[in-house]
Amino acid sequence: MIYDVVIKNGTIIDTKGLRSTVGNVGILGGKISVITRENIVGNMELEVEGKIVCPGIIDIHAHVEGNLDCARVLVAMGVTTVYNGNCGMSPDNFKEFFKENESFLINQIEQIGHTALREKVGVKDRYKAANVEEIEKMKELLEEAFNLGVSGLSFGLEYVPGSSKVEVLELAKVAAKYGKLISIHTRADCYGGLSFLREAIDISRKTGAAVNISHLVYQFGMGMATEALHMVEDGLREGLDISVDSGLYSGFATAIGSAVFDEGCIEKWGCDYNSLIAGTGKYRGQRLTREMYEELRKDFPEDTGIGMVGMESEVFEILEKPYIMVSTDAGTMYDKGIPGHPQDAGTYPKFFRTMVREQNRISLIEAISKCTYMPAKRLGLINKGIIDIGADADILVFDPKVIADKADYPCFGATDTRPEGIEYVFVNGVMAVKGNEVLGVKPGKTLKSKHELWTWSK
Ligand SMILES: [Zn+2]
Repeated sequence: MIYDVVIKNGTIIDTKGLRSTVGNVGILGGKISVITRENIVGNMELEVEGKIVCPGIIDIHAHVEGNLDCARVLVAMGVTTVYNGNCGMSPDNFKEFFKENESFLINQIEQIGHTALREKVGVKDRYKAANVEEIEKMKELLEEAFNLGVSGLSFGLEYVPGSSKVEVLELAKVAAKYGKLISIHTRADCYGGLSFLREAIDISRKTGAAVNISHLVYQFGMGMATEALHMVEDGLREGLDISVDSGLYSGFATAIGSAVFDEGCIEKWGCDYNSLIAGTGKYRGQRLTREMYEELRKDFPEDTGIGMVGMESEVFEILEKPYIMVSTDAGTMYDKGIPGHPQDAGTYPKFFRTMVREQNRISLIEAISKCTYMPAKRLGLINKGIIDIGADADILVFDPKVIADKADYPCFGATDTRPEGIEYVFVNGVMAVKGNEVLGVKPGKTLKSKHELWTWSK
């Protein structure tokens, strides 16, 4: 037997059993075909003694949507699958999207966004609630999207502060009926947002839907992380079907013209305009003044604003919890192919560098599981997130002693510098990254989900 690829003598991580072993992995036809200590032969053989061989990373909170620049940055740090369509934003024509993205650099999975649904039925004013008719139309479109293979529903309630609780619940019920995951970017951040974290958890309590709370640190990493975590833990103890993802940065990024940066945000965060940085556009890398803030809001609302308003200690406090998955929030703002925020290029290497190597807060195996097996399980991807016979050959090989992020905020450095310590990344058995080089291949698939009603046995 000659395999397509043989990865030899690596430390293979069992993300499910939280164990490791040394051996050889044989890939055939895009799948992991054998794991053995016997000598095996391949058309390509890679000697990786001392290196980690683990599943490719599954980013449960991304905004890639076919953006190749973003996918290239992500795969360079080991991401092989992204869960797109977060924060209420998604493609407006899924038929087209699925056709155009049949093959891509990495695997993509899509959600439909609530804000996108609102716009489709004509609710363009973010401070307005949808009326009964509009809600009915949105529900129809939602079912249609599920029919096309869209995997979940996302809310970005902070971006549409006018949306009513009824409208949110009515859509959530449809998702619950089909057993689809709901991702929620809460209606507000900071102290005032805590009651809206309750609103998000309540959606699961009231509808039975599986709910994932998005980028917790960006919402509550400003001094109220402990309280937010307690609220989540109460829900978990109650038996609610909830989960949480969070990133590695204390400063978040979003469009400067969005409701997140509405008048009053400076007072809410207890900061100065200087704590806001332009991530893209004419002021890229500069700290803002009141005048610059007003100019960008008025004339360049799509430019990225970075709010340096969080606490790094809370980044780690959140990620240390065993139920938290690691995510990037990558893909929203790109300027000439370059991301506005270092999260796109640095998240996972930063996670391994800080929490495992430097601070010894969690084990390497646990850390890998939080980026692979846990999101795979949450998304129902039975062939991903594991190194096992028959699993998709989405594989990351890295050096645990070296792995480190090199990207930084635009005021301090380059946002897109490739990490160190990545040896190889495979997507469906095809090499996509070799050292620092991202190869021009398209082995990724856009995965569709089945349109089935939820049943208890599931
Ligand atoms: Zn968001």
